[in-house]
Amino acid sequence: MQTFDIVVVGGGLVGASLALGLADSGKRVALLEGQTGRFADLEQGWDARVYAVSPANRAFLDSLSAWPAMDRVGTIDTMRVRGDQGGVIEFDRQDAGSEALAWIAENRWMLAALWHRLEESSVTLLTGHTPIALATTALDATLTLDNGEVLQSSVVVAADGANSWIRKETGIEASVKPYGQSGVVANFACERPHGNIARQWFFGDSVLAWLPMAGNRISIVWSTFQPERLTALDDETLAVTVAEAGGRELGAFTTLTPGQAFPLRLIRPERTVSQRVVLAGDAAHTVHPLAGQGVNLGFQDAALLARLLGAARDPGDWMVLRRYERERREAVRTMQMTCDGLFTLFHGRDLPGLPWLRNTGLSLTNRLTPLKRYFARQAIG
Ligand SMILES: Cc1cc2nc3c(=O)[nH]c(=O)nc-3n(C[C@H](O)[C@H](O)[C@H](O)COP(=O)(O)OP(=O)(O)OC[C@H]3O[C@@H](n4cnc5c(N)ncnc54)[C@H](O)[C@@H]3O)c2cc1C
Repeated sequence: MQTFDIVVVGGGLVGASLALGLADSGKRVALLEGQTGRFADLEQGWDARVYAVSPANRAFLDSLSAWPAMDRVGTIDTMRVRGDQGGVIEFDRQDAGSEALAWIAENRWMLAALWHRLEESSVTLLTGHTPIALATTALDATLTLDNGEVLQSSVVVAADGANSWIRKETGIEASVKPYGQSGVVANFACERPHGNIARQWFFGDSVLAWLPMAGNRISIVWSTFQPERLTALDDETLAVTVAEAGGRELGAFTTLTPGQAFPLRLIRPERTVSQRVVLAGDAAHTVHPLAGQGVNLGFQDAALLARLLGAARDPGDWMVLRRYERERREAVRTMQMTCDGLFTLFHGRDLPGLPWLRNTGLSLTNRLTPLKRYFARQAIG
């Protein structure tokens, strides 16, 4: 049996950043990741999975010295959103009072940056194994792994993603609302410079985002009810389809990574803490990607947990876990409701006047500077 203060299950962006954030806390920390292979070797090729990282979360990753090299990172200075009947809103970094609205970074390169640092840290890294049993008492939690190893700790953090095994094993029920849509992601080289502008179109039955990457490249998330129409296309036809959907604003496209589809769901667990167990990242919440905020919520979970667990004498103490749950509840609920509300507003076809309302709302907000500034600040988290 190995004994730790904190065991983090799941070495994705949220679990890895949390483990690294705890590395210098004086606590004995283990990070258990089910996949094999060296995550630090992931710095290769273009990754279609990219994230719009908010300024607050960039500061968190900077504080861990785990921000990827800037030649792989795109900057969003301006965000331009268009409705399905001419509505438009545009805000920029000045509206938000920030250096940038967000930065666009690839999943693999961010993971590699975190795992490089983890390999040099005091964190015990256990890869290629998953837990098969979890038992908790008032004093500790015990995980049995598929290779027979046993890990005992004051607290187990579930950062094992949307289908969290720990969440299920703990008996925490989660409400799951499938959107019926998938997010199709792909990367393209474009003919004309993107000007650090993120472009988004609400088409009525789908939402398309063009996100500026480093150089003359963009990454897209196209949330659609018919993902197979995109994933079945060859590279050339996909490039033409995506360029035309955005009115060829950036000229012709060349496909860098083919379309990959991810089913979209809203997941809301009834609680995010249980005896000696705490949920973080997608294990604790998912949101529709139309606001690009999923991983941002997860990084904020990690930053708060690193602070609370790192400072507590007993990191699994019920009061510590409850404090985390209370402090995160409002931000998570607001983001889930906002994204869900926008999804309904821009996909509702049955209510007469709804298309008018949403487009007029966008254009009106665009003209009301204080309201626009308010939304810009909310958007950057
Ligand atoms: C199409 C799409 C586009 C998105 N775009 C954005 C965006 O632009 N911006 C944004 O902020 N968010 C976006 N998101 C959301 C984002 O992908 C997630 O919020 C983020 O990946 C969650 O990170 P995580 O570390 O919590 O979980 P995950 O990334 O799922 O990581 C979980 C880790 O746990 C490991 N694991 C799982 N089970 C076990 C187990 N039993 N034992 C051990 N290890 C285990 C897995 O191998 C994995 O490494 C998007 C999502 C989708 C679907």
